[in-house]
Amino acid sequence: MKRDYYEVLEVNRNASEAELKKAYRKLAFQYHPDRNPGDKEAEERFKELSEAYEVLSDSQKRAAYDQFGHAGVSGNGGGGFAGGFDSSGFGNFGDIFNDLFGEVFGGGGAGRRAGGRVGEDLRYSLEIGFEEAVFGTQARIKVPRQEICTECGGSGTEPGSKPDVCPTCHGRGQVRFQQGFFSINQTCPTCHGEGSINSHPCRNCNGSGRVTGEKTISVKIPPGVETGTRLKLRGEGSAGIKGGPHGDLYVIINVKSHPIFTREGNDIICRVPIGFPQAALGAEIEVPTLEGRRSITVEPGTQSGHLIQLRGKGVPFLNGYGRGDQIVQLVVETPTNLTSRQRELLSELSCEIGADCQPQHKSFFAKVKELFD
Ligand SMILES: [Zn+2]
Ligand SMILES: [Zn+2]
Repeated sequence: MKRDYYEVLEVNRNASEAELKKAYRKLAFQYHPDRNPGDKEAEERFKELSEAYEVLSDSQKRAAYDQFGHAGVSGNGGGGFAGGFDSSGFGNFGDIFNDLFGEVFGGGGAGRRAGGRVGEDLRYSLEIGFEEAVFGTQARIKVPRQEICTECGGSGTEPGSKPDVCPTCHGRGQVRFQQGFFSINQTCPTCHGEGSINSHPCRNCNGSGRVTGEKTISVKIPPGVETGTRLKLRGEGSAGIKGGPHGDLYVIINVKSHPIFTREGNDIICRVPIGFPQAALGAEIEVPTLEGRRSITVEPGTQSGHLIQLRGKGVPFLNGYGRGDQIVQLVVETPTNLTSRQRELLSELSCEIGADCQPQHKSFFAKVKELFD
């Protein structure tokens, strides 16, 4: 025989929405399965409460219930709840419940799993060469991390001994105390929720189950990484606590600078100096690429700063498809340390050459004239 929903929520038949919510909140908090582990009666009470609130908080269902009783809402509550209820306490009505209590239960203790806690995630900063970053490499790294104690196998108890049942909570891991109307469960202060006391801690790890060690790990660095690239190695972090899984290892890439190449994303920039006569007359010159020397044509009349694109000679994309370009920037050098003979020749050339041979000269000074005259 189903109890009356108003009775379940301990409110009057004319209770407002706010009063219903308040009543449900108070009672659901008290009977929540997380606070009453293994208590069948509390679980039943909790289901009953959730069902009652699900109906009464919906004005349509509430009207039907008021008129026809349980028959008016059968199919909405009842069976649906029993089927949807799971051991975590969040069934079909998870949304309603999270709405009200999300902040209190916080989604149920991430990181804490049955039989232990996950180990710490670790960061490792790895410096690699410029070419290694471009073409990928295999690196061997030594990572200091927490390892399972080999003496006790991670249990933390001296081999041959067993932990004692906690005398405070008798193994439940929780203690209950009364505060006014509320009965509140709290993590046991003696065993911190473990339910047992380690009276004979392992001498090798002082009872922690882990020891500081070092693991040599081979890391595959894919082509195209750059400074700041983060590689995740799942399960290569510190060992878990009391049987929990390993944490993860994050390898953070730091790329050394190169004497002649710089990188801009997936393009490789290389500044190549050329002589003033080569720039004026044109020439075939050799430029370095990541895959060796390559010959390029300098057109007659090349200006300083001119860019030449070598398609597909840059850095491979990390996703494995395609490559960037190499950009050659030609830098025209002004001759220095001239002999008197060279100076003589240049002076002669200067008289000969005039402004007509300087493509930017004319338009630039025309603009200057416009600006000031
Ligand atoms: Zn140990
Ligand atoms: Zn205890």
